Amino acid sequence: MTTQAPKTFRPATNLVHGGQLRSQFGETSEALYLTQGFVYPTMETAEARFKGEDKGFIYSRFSNPTVAMFEKRMAMIEGAEAARATASGMAAVTASLLGQLKAGDHVVAPRAMFGSCLYVIEELLPRFGVASTLVDGSNLDEWRAAMRPETKVAFLESPTNPQLGIIDIAGVAEIAHRAGASLVVDNVFATPLLQRPFELGADCVVYSTTKHVDGQGRCLGGCILASEEFIQTHIHNFLRQTGPAMSPFNAWVMLKGLETLPVRLAQQQANAVRIADFLAAHRNVERVLYPTREDHPQHALAMRQMSGGGNVIAFDVRGGKEGAFRFGNALSIVKISNNLGDAKSLLTHPATTTHQRIGPDARAASGIGEGMLRLSCGLEDVEDLLEDVAAGLAAAGA
Ligand SMILES: *Cc1c(COP(=O)(O)O)cnc(C)c1O
Repeated sequence: MTTQAPKTFRPATNLVHGGQLRSQFGETSEALYLTQGFVYPTMETAEARFKGEDKGFIYSRFSNPTVAMFEKRMAMIEGAEAARATASGMAAVTASLLGQLKAGDHVVAPRAMFGSCLYVIEELLPRFGVASTLVDGSNLDEWRAAMRPETKVAFLESPTNPQLGIIDIAGVAEIAHRAGASLVVDNVFATPLLQRPFELGADCVVYSTTKHVDGQGRCLGGCILASEEFIQTHIHNFLRQTGPAMSPFNAWVMLKGLETLPVRLAQQQANAVRIADFLAAHRNVERVLYPTREDHPQHALAMRQMSGGGNVIAFDVRGGKEGAFRFGNALSIVKISNNLGDAKSLLTHPATTTHQRIGPDARAASGIGEGMLRLSCGLEDVEDLLEDVAAGLAAAGA
């Protein structure tokens, strides 16, 4: 087997060739090694492998050639020394936290977070003696004030879901490091192509590869990226022994997804820019939140730490929940779904779905209004999408 595409190639090239382990058959496409285990030529090889003296594969809960190709390609594109794939994005988030924490430790995170991340930090960690403080992520003074001697981890996502708030990653990294804590960044909304958290000081980056990396609505997956030392100290054994491994089949689908990520994302983002401008000019829209628009409250910060706004738009329609429901029910191309990053454009009403559980007060505190909608722009013809959105807005204002 040979490894192709050394790190000197540009991202789009690495996304096509990076990390490929080509077998003796010389296959063009990455091979799918759908196997649980591996056989050893001799008893001595088995012994050497378990001792770590022979680098071959042992068991697919630990590692697998197809999954290893995916991890290598993700590490190359992120500029990380090491990567570990997981069964889902939440498995990556949970392992990145539990792998570092023990009873008595403390975590700081923003109030505005993906719902399941909030569950892990607010409800799960305290059951094991790990306290947390939730802050307004955009306010560095709150981050600073929340740090304690026992703070071990700062965790954030930026842009945030669903309100597309931007958090100063470099600012939080400095505060966390000064307090002796590490910074974990959930980089799903930006993707590895639009935001580089390691260059801004993050110690660990996590993804739900369910989103843009697959990008075609098929498989769940996640990934944890960090230095070799961080992975060895905090993540490697935790994953190996607890078992949230990515299926080789899903890794194969994700590898195919990575090949087309730059072209998909560029088109989806171009669609999002057009649609955001259209929404902002419409009388039935109260507010549009899109990171690279000048009216975004953190526009300057977004321009500083992102190289593009991504494919997700948040906006408030007139008429509150009823207006938002009329909008969604009038659409014919855009589908109603809580997913994002897909080739299909998808619409979510956070207040009644993804953020229903946190209740009206927490929603209000996070700026999630009853009329807020989140639109993940897909790969359809933008003219068709604009007509669909226009039909939704006409219905919203009826
Ligand atoms: C989807 C998502 C997750 C969870 O990923 P799954 O693959 O659904 O487990 C975590 N964080 C963010 C920001 C997400 O969008």
